[in-house]
Amino acid sequence: MSQPVVIIGGGIVGLSAAHELLRRGRQVVLLERGDAAHDSCSLGNAGMIVPSHFVPLAAPGMVAMGLRWMLDGESPFWIRPRLDLKLASWGLKFWKASTHKHVDRCAPVLRDLNLRSRELYLRHRAELPQSFDFADVGLLMLCQTQAALEHEIAFAAKSTEMGVPAEVLTVEELRRRDPGIDYAVKGGVLMKRDAHFDPRKLVQLLTQDILNRGGKIIWNAEVTGWRSEGRRLVAAVSTQGEFSGSEFVLAAGAWSPDAAGQLGLRMPMQAGKGYSMRVTQPVQLSKFCSILTEARVAVTPMGSSLLVGGTMEIAGNDMTVNPARVRGIVKSFCRYYPAFKEKDFEALPVWAGLRPCPPDGMPYLGRTAAKDNLVVATGHSMMGLSLGPVTGEIVAQIICQEPLSVKLDNVHPDRYA
Ligand SMILES: Cc1cc2nc3c(=O)[nH]c(=O)nc-3n(C[C@H](O)[C@H](O)[C@H](O)COP(=O)(O)OP(=O)(O)OC[C@H]3O[C@@H](n4cnc5c(N)ncnc54)[C@H](O)[C@@H]3O)c2cc1C
Repeated sequence: MSQPVVIIGGGIVGLSAAHELLRRGRQVVLLERGDAAHDSCSLGNAGMIVPSHFVPLAAPGMVAMGLRWMLDGESPFWIRPRLDLKLASWGLKFWKASTHKHVDRCAPVLRDLNLRSRELYLRHRAELPQSFDFADVGLLMLCQTQAALEHEIAFAAKSTEMGVPAEVLTVEELRRRDPGIDYAVKGGVLMKRDAHFDPRKLVQLLTQDILNRGGKIIWNAEVTGWRSEGRRLVAAVSTQGEFSGSEFVLAAGAWSPDAAGQLGLRMPMQAGKGYSMRVTQPVQLSKFCSILTEARVAVTPMGSSLLVGGTMEIAGNDMTVNPARVRGIVKSFCRYYPAFKEKDFEALPVWAGLRPCPPDGMPYLGRTAAKDNLVVATGHSMMGLSLGPVTGEIVAQIICQEPLSVKLDNVHPDRYA
């Protein structure tokens, strides 16, 4: 009997890879260091599918904006100051990548990956046995200042030109489309190809789907090393023993560089911590998900509840919650949605997740020179949920030697080697 594909990591990327390989008749063993009820970045995020987000995180103006935000304790961005060579090198690479040329090269790739992923989410909606509250209604970019609105209007034109249609909405039009919701904004842009859903429900359904298709998931199996023969990996060494395979997929999110480093694969990455809170009985429930552009806060209706999240803290793989940043998210949200009060959030648990962030804002996806039978699938930063299904598809296409559904550029895992 042929050996299975061994996947490391049970977040959206690992699960999507398992799903796609099983669809193609391959055997799969997924190793997840958490238990069946474990948390991951793929659970408490804002649940947005974002073809409109084709500009990578490393873009002109980001470094200057980041430095300004560093001075404000409640702002959406913060780097914990520390003497760390890896952090300094990551920052330098980010700064070098933040050019128009980089954006022009990466934008079509991110667009196409996101659009293909959207199709795969539509397939999930049709095939999975239960709803995951998928709503194909678009995403609102909401603006409180004229400057932000003008910026979004200009971006809407570019987005439409690139095949991702966007519509500018006045406040009156916004209220007509979403009756009963108080918006304290100057206007907004509707990104019509974007969508949203409840990631907790989707992850649960995908996990069950993998088991139903005969895939194996080994919980509490933290991969701590590898066994190799020459240029090939033979087994992943884990806290539950060794798992042999014909192919291996590294999809361990923000922790991927630890496992990759043992193979000599250099993949610069910082964890970008974010927070979210779920209001279970919101006073108002918009039908749209939204991004509050000046505040960088994400708001998503999920069934009858409302998720509010944001912040990017570069502070290592530390999960501690910073109350000032959480306060910043809540204050901003209440400014844009004035029917809500800060006290609505007082007793709510705060979820934290670590986004896997390469310095150039592009995923690490594909085979590597480190080992012949290893595929890397990580580093999706702010859009790992959106890009999960297409990443899984590409992993399966690489392993099964099929043509790729999206033309890839600037995602090679060895680009910093
Ligand atoms: C506040 C917030 C809002 C967000 N909103 C959105 C959004 O709206 N849309 C979007 O597209 N993205 C969003 N994101 C980003 C998205 O959540 C991430 O990009 C995505 O979840 C990353 O998925 P992953 O599978 O790569 O990693 P993870 O979900 O972190 O999964 C990695 C898994 O690997 C396991 N693991 C790690 N090391 C090992 C090991 N050695 N052995 C075995 N297992 C291991 C971990 O336990 C974990 O379960 C958001 C993130 C945050 C924080």
